[in-house]
Amino acid sequence: MTEVEELALELRLHLAWQESDGTRMLFKDAKPVEAPKPVPAPAAQAQAPGAPQAPGEGGRTLDEIRRELGDCKRCKLCNGRTQIVFGVGNPRAELVFVGEGPGADEDAQGIPFVGKAGQLLTKMIEAMKFKRDDVYICNVVKCRPPNNRNPEPDEIEACEPFLKMQLGSIRPKVIVALGKFAAQTLLRVDTPITRLRGQWREYEGIPLMPTFHPAYLLRSPEEKGKAWLDLQEVMKRFGKK
Ligand code: URA
Repeated sequence: MTEVEELALELRLHLAWQESDGTRMLFKDAKPVEAPKPVPAPAAQAQAPGAPQAPGEGGRTLDEIRRELGDCKRCKLCNGRTQIVFGVGNPRAELVFVGEGPGADEDAQGIPFVGKAGQLLTKMIEAMKFKRDDVYICNVVKCRPPNNRNPEPDEIEACEPFLKMQLGSIRPKVIVALGKFAAQTLLRVDTPITRLRGQWREYEGIPLMPTFHPAYLLRSPEEKGKAWLDLQEVMKRFGKK
């Protein structure tokens, strides 16, 4: 591939990803990305159907961690939730995305990132030349904060051990922290996401790239270019361009 062809491909992916509402098509053959299919059973939420379980840290699988979480009442978010949104994807994923917490769609379906922001995340993943099923997606808090408010420190504290266990079980090659809450929780800093983004960091020896949250990108589409630069850094780690 010539340099010009490479640049054209990069631009195409970037623009395709920018078409986040699925209606404004830049390319005749472009199709809106289908919303991920609901997976009903709580245990099955944790992994792709039929996928082998990761052996994980201390031999703990995602299913075991999900069972330990149980019908969680460790914080007040349990009062308003419809269901716990544990995580979805490949238990042996090389790439994990961590978001903030479920919204209304996620609370209803029990699957992370299935609403508008989730559809944008799916496009970001595909622009990175991954499939949604290849990666693992979870959140800092596993129950929906009322009215989509920010998760509070006591709620993050109660839920964080389970995020740690999930990441310890999967041990991905790279973690992408989506937005302030994921980045600040995993890195134990209070630096603003505007300063964290785009800089490689480490979480328990795993390279971590902080970037903007897709919900923020929906509100501020002019920032998508910066997020795309961050994701391209991640792609380079996987030898993708
Ligand atoms: N935003 C998040 O941070 N997580 C979700 O699962 C959905 C929206």
